[in-house]
Amino acid sequence: MKLHERIAIARGDQPADLLLTNLQLVNVYTGEVYPSEVAIAGSRIVGVGPGYEAHQTLDLEGRFLAPGFIDAHVHIESSLCTPPEFARAVLVRGVTTVITDPHEIANVLGLEGVRLMLNAAKNGLLSMYVMASSCVPATHMETSGAALSADDLVGLLQSRWVLGLAEMMNYPGLVFGDAEVLRKVEAFAQGVLDGHCPGLSGKQLSAYRAAGIGSDHECTTVEEAREKLRVGMTLFIREATNAHNLDALLPVVTPQNSRRICFCTDDRQPADLLDEGSIDHMVRRAIAQGIAPVEAIRMATLNTAEYFRLHGYGAVSPGYHADLIAFEDLQAPHAALVFRGGQLVAQAGQLVARFQPPPLSEVRSSMNIHWEGLDFSIPAQGEQIRVIGSIPGQLVTEHRSGQRGSKAVWPWRTRPAIC
Ligand SMILES: [Zn+2]
Repeated sequence: MKLHERIAIARGDQPADLLLTNLQLVNVYTGEVYPSEVAIAGSRIVGVGPGYEAHQTLDLEGRFLAPGFIDAHVHIESSLCTPPEFARAVLVRGVTTVITDPHEIANVLGLEGVRLMLNAAKNGLLSMYVMASSCVPATHMETSGAALSADDLVGLLQSRWVLGLAEMMNYPGLVFGDAEVLRKVEAFAQGVLDGHCPGLSGKQLSAYRAAGIGSDHECTTVEEAREKLRVGMTLFIREATNAHNLDALLPVVTPQNSRRICFCTDDRQPADLLDEGSIDHMVRRAIAQGIAPVEAIRMATLNTAEYFRLHGYGAVSPGYHADLIAFEDLQAPHAALVFRGGQLVAQAGQLVARFQPPPLSEVRSSMNIHWEGLDFSIPAQGEQIRVIGSIPGQLVTEHRSGQRGSKAVWPWRTRPAIC
């Protein structure tokens, strides 16, 4: 649709395509909820308020209408699904936009994997934006299928679907000035620079922030989250399958700082996506824990859009993408209707959009494990044994040690994991 046509419809000189009536508008700009109507032309909202006419009218029967949810950081590969199947799982939950870091597939296929995800971004059911994977592999000690250099990543800047540099997991490399890490950060200095710095504090956090890193999603305590907010980082609160940080971090949210806080799922597996949901689950949980409903919805919409400079997303506003959800209970939003780009794509938890997963022949035969001789045991040398200790519900690990032959391997000192 040409711009002058959109403006003419917004002016009321021509009918819109679709008019949503009898709704309670969740206004994430002002924090208000009030009766309104929303006119849509093509894929965009053109008018909000009474008096519009349209070729088609849909009575929302008093439901609440809010912008579609945005996942600030997700590895779609962790859903164990292809992007179309992932979209099918989250779209019905009201998640209409995701910002994905394809570093799992990049570790297998390198740039080809990233390009596969970019193709999925262009043609998918979701609005899917990609961050260039900064740490492939996560450390030089890994044996991955591919490595991405700064030169490899620079080419991705040409894509309008690439918003910036994904989670800088190699925070020691950045803090201590590793040349290749600095080249990556400098190449993306005009974009969004996502962080990943569990436990980083004090001067080292300042050094990380001074490099231009804008966010972190690895906080596990209120104190850590508050320190990162205070140095100007946007806080992504994460509720993944393998890391549950939401309940621990919700107490940091205040009306004064909530505009600097977003929600992300990072790594969420099928059972959790199907049983609990995605960002919608986080919104409901936040409201149940005492966050005001519009504030919780704003953290899942407008805040994320603004952080990523995704103009036209995250609010119900003239000119914005008509990515919308309608639901019945403001205290526990479950998407009854989901619109993406002005089209009804899901209803009552079922996908109504046409769904045809593309063939993925490119990624077949990429798992190459030679079972013969596979051996996870490490011969112990000396009396002291050092192991990595896992912490239930967390990604951070412990460095443990114990005497050979003893059953107990006790915590020796805690150290944040690098990935
Ligand atoms: Zn991540």
